[in-house]
Amino acid sequence: MTDRRKFVKLSLLSSAAVLAGNKLMGKATPASYVVPPTVKDNPIVISTWPFGKPANAAAWEVLRKGGRALDAVEAGVRVPEADPHNQSVGYGGRPDRDGRVTLDACIMDENSKCGSVACLEHIVHPISVARMVMEKTPHVMLVGDGALQFALANGLKKENLLTPKSEAEWRAWLKDHKYKPVINIENQLPGGESNHDTIGMVAMDKNGNLSGACTTSGLSYKLHGRVGDSPIIGAGLYVDNEVGAATSTGVGEEVIRIVGSHLVVELMRQGHSPEDACKQAVERIVAKSPAAAREAQVGFLALNKKGDFGGYALQKGFSYAVRNGNLNTVIESKYHYV
Ligand code: ASP
Repeated sequence: MTDRRKFVKLSLLSSAAVLAGNKLMGKATPASYVVPPTVKDNPIVISTWPFGKPANAAAWEVLRKGGRALDAVEAGVRVPEADPHNQSVGYGGRPDRDGRVTLDACIMDENSKCGSVACLEHIVHPISVARMVMEKTPHVMLVGDGALQFALANGLKKENLLTPKSEAEWRAWLKDHKYKPVINIENQLPGGESNHDTIGMVAMDKNGNLSGACTTSGLSYKLHGRVGDSPIIGAGLYVDNEVGAATSTGVGEEVIRIVGSHLVVELMRQGHSPEDACKQAVERIVAKSPAAAREAQVGFLALNKKGDFGGYALQKGFSYAVRNGNLNTVIESKYHYV
């Protein structure tokens, strides 16, 4: 039997067992919503883009030892945050049009606790600041200088995040683009690279608990102070431990308009598979902003309580990394505009 088939079989067996258990315990289930059974002892982590693969490896180290999904996603996304070669997340991220690297990040756990930072400068690991906001304050979100002061007060070091490569590219961009932010399209940078990308990661641990993290330097050469979807709970990330978790990447403005990740989770609650929920969220963007959608990239990624996962994007090119007991791979997402 292939690994995938074994996995599906295991999922079905566990589903049947949990459903039977619920019946025995006389649990009522609303007509429109069947609580998905959890696959315990079968951890999984998924994350956006091929650079999710090394991030998943760090998360997997936590999950395979029986650790908590929250610790796994924080450890996972810290990998690209610290990587100077990754120009869309953390240290080495492309700056705004003023040459300032401003970071957005959020984190959410199985108890719906969440924390977030936006427009944070000088800190390599915004995800860990987001977690401290969640765990050490009564708030959900800190921004700008307040977020920086909070990070420094909690022992984090102030660093220069603008690497020579990102600075040189920004200076070259200034010459041609005359200080106008890049309109939100992929392949507008020299060499046809993307002007955006984010790591969004969601995981389920051996206890069947879900958590997620999302972190980015946002759109390159954005206006100073611009905040995308990534640190917005419900837009760039959402976790509902009864149902599933979702995250997004791409043009944040389009994701915020439809509160994308929350929408994906609610569609899964209605019984849609992760891929279908992501597809419907993409179609919602197309319906709400048809002109902008043609020119933009958005990708959604989702995981449900059974350990099923899927993604969907507006345009060709989105891919995501998956790691569980059987798989360690990058998958090309399906997309809307063929
Ligand atoms: N979603 C990010 C933002 O809008 C960028 C990206 O994922 O490409 O800031």
